[in-house]
Amino acid sequence: MPKEVIKYTCEYKCGAKAVGDKKRMIAHEGRCWNNPDNKTCKTCKNEIYEIDFDGFKYQIIRDCKIPHLSELFTQVDDIISNNNAMHKRPIYNCEYWNKDSDDGAELFAKKLKAEILSEVEGTEHFPFFNKPSKTVQAVKEKYDLSF
Ligand SMILES: [Zn+2]
Repeated sequence: MPKEVIKYTCEYKCGAKAVGDKKRMIAHEGRCWNNPDNKTCKTCKNEIYEIDFDGFKYQIIRDCKIPHLSELFTQVDDIISNNNAMHKRPIYNCEYWNKDSDDGAELFAKKLKAEILSEVEGTEHFPFFNKPSKTVQAVKEKYDLSF
């Protein structure tokens, strides 16, 4: 007789694979990009996210309607790209989430840039979840950061 199994999926419909361990899915939801409590780009009205396919390869553009954050995305583009996945990571706990004003965003963008360039195990605004260590190594080498 086939055995029935119970699996859990993400309530925010992010596409995460269903798992049998409920605690694991609860933990996932806590950090999910689509969870509005995390104030990520994915749930923000300022998000610009485009996927282009030229017939050979995909180009993914992550951008923001807040001008200083838009500049930041250009500067750190290769870091927020994940070589193995078809996405560019969003910012978490963004101070400009769903805001209209760019006031003070220059300072926030500088803070984010420092976090992104120097993170090891993740930061408040740019956590690495299950990030392959070789990518962290590549970031360290590229920016000559020893930590
Ligand atoms: Zn999710």
